[in-house]
Amino acid sequence: MKRTKVIVGNWKMNMGPSEAMRLVRALKVKFVAANGVEIGVCPPALSIPAVMDLLKGSSCTIGVGGQNMEAELSGAFTGEISAPMLVDAGCKYVIVGHSERRQLFGETDAGVFEKTKVALAHDLVPIVCVGETLEERESNRTEAVIESQLEGSLGGLSADQMSKIIIAYEPVWAIGTGKTATTEQASAVHAFIRDWMSKKFSPEVAEVVRIQYGGSVKPGNAAELLSQVDIDGALVGGASLKPDDFEAIVKAAPGATF
Ligand code: PEP
Repeated sequence: MKRTKVIVGNWKMNMGPSEAMRLVRALKVKFVAANGVEIGVCPPALSIPAVMDLLKGSSCTIGVGGQNMEAELSGAFTGEISAPMLVDAGCKYVIVGHSERRQLFGETDAGVFEKTKVALAHDLVPIVCVGETLEERESNRTEAVIESQLEGSLGGLSADQMSKIIIAYEPVWAIGTGKTATTEQASAVHAFIRDWMSKKFSPEVAEVVRIQYGGSVKPGNAAELLSQVDIDGALVGGASLKPDDFEAIVKAAPGATF
């Protein structure tokens, strides 16, 4: 089965409403005739309504996502946003367990699991991030770390739930550093993740779930990464803030037509 490549921009804590509107206006022009590739952007929560307003009624199919959410649905959680709020705002995706959330805000695999279930229950597509640190890679623990993150964050899902998510493999040492995993390094971990899904759930589930690569994806390395059999897309940080770079990355996806 052919998995449509999915390219999602993670704007992180950049692009307040007015800047976000400028960026999305530029993207709309670029992607108006895009086909054969799934495109998404994850603005800061505060900018989601402005971005949605610009995309509403447009023939340009850019999906919008949150960068994080709270597992609780409402109540006394100052500063948090919930799955129903993301749905109400028109979101399609939500990034869950990004390494910055794990490292800077203490997110755990158990917490990622809870958020993933809640996102699925609200028909959001969770983009669940896993990835090893440089120290873990250098001490040959990459597979053990990825397996433990997968088990803790996703192992308790049903096969049906699992088949609806996107996994993002993001080696922590490659995020925002300009260092990219080689295609061999990325492909090996993607194949490992697919094999884990096959054993844990079923070969059918492993066949449909898309695994994005993330970590300094740029116009110069996108084509090679995206042409790998187990790399089904990209989660793009820095380069997604530059319309020309994001366009070039999307255009590098096999299957994309413009
Ligand atoms: C990310 O934020 O998920 C990411 C991969 O960032 P960058 O592309 O800047 O490395």
